[in-house]
Amino acid sequence: MAAPLIAIDKVSKSYGGALALNDVSLEIAAGRFVALVGTSGSGKTTTLKTINRLIDPDMGEVRLDGRPVGDEPGPQLRRGIGYVFQGVGLFPHLTVAENIAVTPRLLGWAEDEIAPRIAELLDLVALPQDYAARFPSALSGGERQRIGVARALAARPRVMLMDEPFGALDPVTRIELGDAYRALHDKLGLTTVMVTHDVSEAVLLADRIVVMKGGRVLADDTPRNLLTGAADPYVAALMASPKQQADRVAALMARQ
Ligand code: ADP
Ligand code: MG
Repeated sequence: MAAPLIAIDKVSKSYGGALALNDVSLEIAAGRFVALVGTSGSGKTTTLKTINRLIDPDMGEVRLDGRPVGDEPGPQLRRGIGYVFQGVGLFPHLTVAENIAVTPRLLGWAEDEIAPRIAELLDLVALPQDYAARFPSALSGGERQRIGVARALAARPRVMLMDEPFGALDPVTRIELGDAYRALHDKLGLTTVMVTHDVSEAVLLADRIVVMKGGRVLADDTPRNLLTGAADPYVAALMASPKQQADRVAALMARQ
């Protein structure tokens, strides 16, 4: 079997004696879409950041394409990995075009390569070309998040790391952007690791769900298997939550 594109191998990380990650191992094959779920503080963000070296583990190793990520300087590594986080972090004083061009410029792309790439990315995230000249303050939350995705994709990464990318959006926009991103993932052949606290989003978008609690991986399986046969009671309760909500709504409707 080919080596996984991303391998997190027995990784632990503590902050001031408290374990944020406790012996976490995950292997992610190229092309997969994996969701990391779990309550706040369970170690999802820390896990994600060990992949692009925003955090170095105390123990264990992370490998990308079989090569330890620690072999490469962090900034260089990160130019090859897409990263989208909650709140997006667009530079407010830069236009949409300049925001998207940040990584290509760092990589030394020629300006005549960058301009068509910006146009292509605006098409890819379904925004009009004249948005290129706007500043982030003139965009809706959903539009900003689309630009965040475009910026992360600018230098054609194979891997996308997303930390609650749609968490701050209204539910309608959130579902629309989630579906649009999943279509991009498939079209571009990306490998995506997405942190979300929304179990419905994880079930509907991901090929595989990793449930974390207290810095450990509690479960790691397909949405279908986790919905039907999770052994751990916490995992079972978490996975049952979307259907329970839907059942309550259905019961309410039946009473009218
Ligand atoms: P999640 O993303 O699942 O909410 P995190 O990975 O952000 O969880 O955090 C895991 C644990 O590590 C939490 O208990 C958090 O308080 C702690 N932690 C994360 N980052 C730091 C930090 N820079 N300094 C101290 N503690 C931290
Ligand atoms: Mg987090």
